[in-house]
Amino acid sequence: MAVYVVGHKSPDTDSVTSAIAYAELKKAQGVDAIAIMQGELNPESTMVLEKFGFAAPEIMTDATGKQIILVDHSDIAQAPDNLKDGEVVEIIDHHKIGDVTTNNPILFCAQPVGCTGTVIKQLYEINKVDIPKNIAGIMLAAILSDTVLFKSPTTTDADKAACEGLAAIAGVSDMEALAMEMFKAKSAVQGVPMKDLIFRDYKDFDMAGKKVGCGQLELVDLSLVADMRDDLYKALQEVKDEGGRHSIFLMLTDIMKEGTDLMAITDDPSIIEKAFGKKLEGQTVWIDGMMSRKKQTIPPLQKVFGA
Ligand code: MG
Ligand code: MG
Ligand code: MG
Repeated sequence: MAVYVVGHKSPDTDSVTSAIAYAELKKAQGVDAIAIMQGELNPESTMVLEKFGFAAPEIMTDATGKQIILVDHSDIAQAPDNLKDGEVVEIIDHHKIGDVTTNNPILFCAQPVGCTGTVIKQLYEINKVDIPKNIAGIMLAAILSDTVLFKSPTTTDADKAACEGLAAIAGVSDMEALAMEMFKAKSAVQGVPMKDLIFRDYKDFDMAGKKVGCGQLELVDLSLVADMRDDLYKALQEVKDEGGRHSIFLMLTDIMKEGTDLMAITDDPSIIEKAFGKKLEGQTVWIDGMMSRKKQTIPPLQKVFGA
């Protein structure tokens, strides 16, 4: 029986490349593993897969009757639909432990590092499997993406060490140049429908019974979205209403200035000041140093919601 390896909804580079890299490791161990993804590639992942010579994994969104390995998440809201009608057989992650449960004991390997790629590199080493050159390339790209070239506070020494090793295997001599190529690809926003931008890197969370959504656009310069802010806000309001969300956020993250203009629409605006110590000024509030959704945006909100 095939085992499907899948990252979260609205797949990012880590979710796609970790599915490919971990499926490759399982295959080297004799498992019929297939990398899949839950949605279209974003511009950054498209560039990364092309550069290192991979085709896009097939899209599959329903877990019914399937054996599944989750990478880069363990939240039901981010996992394939009908997960309870399938079987989760492993989880490899670097986020907070989510709400997925299992009937049997499984391999659950999560570490507080900057990227699932870093965890997978260690799993290759533990299992004494050589990392193929092109797989090393996409794993390197994932770590550079998730850690925003080590600028994100999620970055650990293990991520940096993993990148050194992977760059050597992949034959990448200039990591910074690769990261810049990726940042430019992910900054492509002109002509993209507003909702596609919101969902490009988006996650829903259950916070004490309330549905809270948070998207993130990582940009080399916020001037790229200067003339789209009103349209983005309008689309964000629609997404909030359609999904019955209590609150919805769009992080407009300036990779170079290292901060986020946090666009927010919420049934209770007081949560913004409680979570971040600043009030909304119109549509957004600028939070200096905010780069990471999972470390700097979600935890303070969860605290305020009492989740
Ligand atoms: Mg991810
Ligand atoms: Mg990740
Ligand atoms: Mg990210």
